[in-house]
Amino acid sequence: MPKTNKLVSIVISAYNEENNVAELYKQLKQNLQNMPAIDFEFIYVDDGSSDKTLANCMALQNEDERIKIVQLKRNFGHEIAMTAGMDYAQGDAVIFMDADLQHPPVYIPQMIELWQQGKEIVLTKRLDNQATSKLYKFCAKTFYYVLNLLSETKIMESAPDFRLLDRKYVDFLKGFNEQDRLFRGLLSWILPQENVAYIDFVAPERFSGESKYNFAKSLRLAINSILQFSVMPLRLATYLGLITAILAVCLGLYVFVEHFFLHNPTPGYATIMVSVMFLGAVQLICLGIIGEYIGKIHVEVKKRPLYMAEYMVKKGKKRAQKDI
Ligand code: UDP
Ligand code: MG
Repeated sequence: MPKTNKLVSIVISAYNEENNVAELYKQLKQNLQNMPAIDFEFIYVDDGSSDKTLANCMALQNEDERIKIVQLKRNFGHEIAMTAGMDYAQGDAVIFMDADLQHPPVYIPQMIELWQQGKEIVLTKRLDNQATSKLYKFCAKTFYYVLNLLSETKIMESAPDFRLLDRKYVDFLKGFNEQDRLFRGLLSWILPQENVAYIDFVAPERFSGESKYNFAKSLRLAINSILQFSVMPLRLATYLGLITAILAVCLGLYVFVEHFFLHNPTPGYATIMVSVMFLGAVQLICLGIIGEYIGKIHVEVKKRPLYMAEYMVKKGKKRAQKDI
């Protein structure tokens, strides 16, 4: 019986990357041409782009029918875009990467080699890039420190969304149904495993366009990650309540003793104002934390589909509304 090639899917999330998709395809082709024992499919996920990303992907598809397109009907965000690509990928292994060439295709043969040697998860580690600002590095470090302090699952630092997963883990990850998802965190939940390999790389600058993560979006992602992986803030709220209650009792005792035994009550209501405002603030913070979690529950219990997509392959179009 003839030996059939293994299939590797390459999932590329693209949101307004019109000037990057063709260059990425060119570089993928260049780097993968010497791997005759492997078949490839390239799954471009267009995450509701408003520029010519989709049209450019379709033009590429006319050249090469290994290109499949998952067109998300609006912008669902990077994590959902990767999920959609993963759902449609048919490969024995799936490689995830960004469309902006910050994940250089030159590393893919090495990833596949490691997979062929038996590694089932190949992760990458982003080495320090001199061009990254000190402020960005500081914020990222602080974020991971706080996250890991609060979270029961240790979340990997400097682990970009450039990775290979064996089919076994792809199928396993499909079992995670949460709306708010962070692949990095879900993988950390699976790890440690002995069959993991790491590749170090320095991410180059974007080939074209600008990062989609501004400060507000990054902050939201950071807060979501904490809420998703830790209930510690709720516990902290309780501790904060307990501490302020103890302080209030001590203060009350002090005022009582001052008034009835020392006959020297503290004059003025400045101290009262301060303590009332302090307690008010603590209560609002605690309510805010509880509100954030209730908001998350509200979103999750509805069990809405994660996205709405159209799957485009060269030989005819298939319609699909994913409901997972
Ligand atoms: N992306 C996406 N949906 C979004 C935002 C980003 O699919 O809502 C894609 C984007 O096109 C890119 C990748 O996710 O291929 C990483 O985004 P970006 O380069 O903006 O992030 P950065 O590298 O600056 O962290
Ligand atoms: Mg990028």
